Amino acid sequence: MVTVNDTTLRDGEQTAGVAFSAEEKIAIARALSAAGVPELEIGIPVMGAEEREAIRAIAGMGLNSRFMVWGRMRDDDLRAAAQCNVNMVNLSIPVSDLQIRHKLKRDREWVLQAIRRFVPAALDLGMEVSVGAEDASRADIDFLLQAAEAAEYAGARRFRFADTLGVLDPFATYEVLRTLRVTVDMEVEMHAHDDLGLATANTLAAVKAGATHINTTVNGLGERAGNAPLEEAVMALRHLHGIECGIDGQHFPQISRLVALASGRPVSANKSIVGEGVFTHESGVHVDGLIKNRANYQNFDPEEVGRDHRLVLGKHSGSNAVIRAYAEMGILLDALRAGAILMRIRRYAGATKHAPGVIELKRFYLETAARSRSHLEV
Ligand code: MN
Repeated sequence: MVTVNDTTLRDGEQTAGVAFSAEEKIAIARALSAAGVPELEIGIPVMGAEEREAIRAIAGMGLNSRFMVWGRMRDDDLRAAAQCNVNMVNLSIPVSDLQIRHKLKRDREWVLQAIRRFVPAALDLGMEVSVGAEDASRADIDFLLQAAEAAEYAGARRFRFADTLGVLDPFATYEVLRTLRVTVDMEVEMHAHDDLGLATANTLAAVKAGATHINTTVNGLGERAGNAPLEEAVMALRHLHGIECGIDGQHFPQISRLVALASGRPVSANKSIVGEGVFTHESGVHVDGLIKNRANYQNFDPEEVGRDHRLVLGKHSGSNAVIRAYAEMGILLDALRAGAILMRIRRYAGATKHAPGVIELKRFYLETAARSRSHLEV
């Protein structure tokens, strides 16, 4: 069992140029909760009254998910978090020497002191605490473990391992998460970024190493190249590792559209699981194989994610596919006519770069009819 903590409403919204309205935040939280996502990180209270208002509204809706907010180890962040009526706060602090020196202008001891001070302070305010180890993947391993031990000793229930810049591969992720897991006896959460396209792979490696929690975002929205996509993590854990997250994949298309719209970040056609084109087939060989037995060209049943296979005609179609597509429209073709129409389809696909729809197919039928008639008349 692994617990998904979806951070679409925090790290997702942190994407350059993305800003959700309160209504959008509420709709996204509702949709994620309805799909069964157990934990949502829903914002940054210190950003202001409006943000806190939206967070409080979500927390007060009686949804089944648990809620977390994000803050730094600062008094104003903590005070703002405490006004939000949420279960949990993630208190973030850099742990790499690079960020400790060149961002905080502090030293390692200062970081440990901050953990020792702010974790109990948050507990006193009635919140459970996750210590967010920023840039953990570039930290000295001994210091990382020291920080985790300090967090555990101070009463944090969770340690978030942030691969803030997406510098890890699955092998390195496994090693460091394994070490973390055997060193401390607390929840360990993986926060992966996709700068090298490895966020999902690293998330899986972390789970294999014993991570109890994973951060995801819908469509992989997030800083720069984004975070581990919710839909990918859930489906890969289910199908590759036999691990259920308790999340209903049939909600993915609707949630994906909602987030794409609210974020102004459209999903590419080939985006795994939720992309428009990922269950669409054109090539004669694949279509023929699918019709004989879906398993021939199917990773998982698209119905699991609320979708279905779609067959389209295009440059790579065969005559049989043309005959079948027209039969579905109630038009019976012989092989000669199908061949003529296929030539038209190829020209169309080459010129427009997309598959012809029903209207175009009917037009091709009429045009080829006209041509064969005029040919007879000559
Ligand atoms: Mn992040």
